Amino acid sequence: MAKVQNRRRQGKLASVVTTPTRPVQGEICAICGVRTASTKDHVPPKAIFPKPRPHLITVPACFECNNSASDFDDLFKVYLSLHAAENNDIARKLFSEKTVRTLQRNQRLLDKIKSESSRVAIVNKSGDLESRMGVLWDSYAHDRVIERTIRGLYYHHSGHPIPSNCILQVQWLHGVPDEIIPMLPILKEHTIGENQVVYKYVIYENDPRHSLWIFEFYGAHWASGHTSPVQF
Ligand SMILES: [Zn+2]
Repeated sequence: MAKVQNRRRQGKLASVVTTPTRPVQGEICAICGVRTASTKDHVPPKAIFPKPRPHLITVPACFECNNSASDFDDLFKVYLSLHAAENNDIARKLFSEKTVRTLQRNQRLLDKIKSESSRVAIVNKSGDLESRMGVLWDSYAHDRVIERTIRGLYYHHSGHPIPSNCILQVQWLHGVPDEIIPMLPILKEHTIGENQVVYKYVIYENDPRHSLWIFEFYGAHWASGHTSPVQF
């Protein structure tokens, strides 16, 4: 299992994760929990971190799970950077160094984003109303990335995949929902990079089929997910 240690770097607390570069022979895929792993997968995906990248968490993954993820990772990166670039320097770097290149190569995606953009009224930092371009997320790609990230992090923190008799549900958040606030003290918190990704989670010791995950990406996008036993 990966070793996690906290180290103070440049005055900020950074989470440093050390993992072997190849899966141990016979390890199970952290994502599907079924096939044998043949590679490593980054969770959250490497695509959303511009260089120099912070230390990222990797988990064993099979070829199929690893290979099917990159298109969704690219879409997640594009939409995340479009939403976060305005108020975060590293997200701006993600946009200018990675998203621009993706959009130059993918005219169809660029056209889709343009056609789905519209002017929305927002309250700016000074408290004034302002008209900005709003872009709708690709929700399918979003949910697939959050789901895979939860599966990988569940494995990373528990040492085994999410049990097969569980369902995993992803929710969009605009803030922390009221029902989660009483649970916040029991959630553990991890930070990746300079607050690029902050996540809180709990895997219940008395029944590890139950777990809860809350993510903050670049201080601009929030999502959550939970696992629970399948109800028959
Ligand atoms: Zn797999």
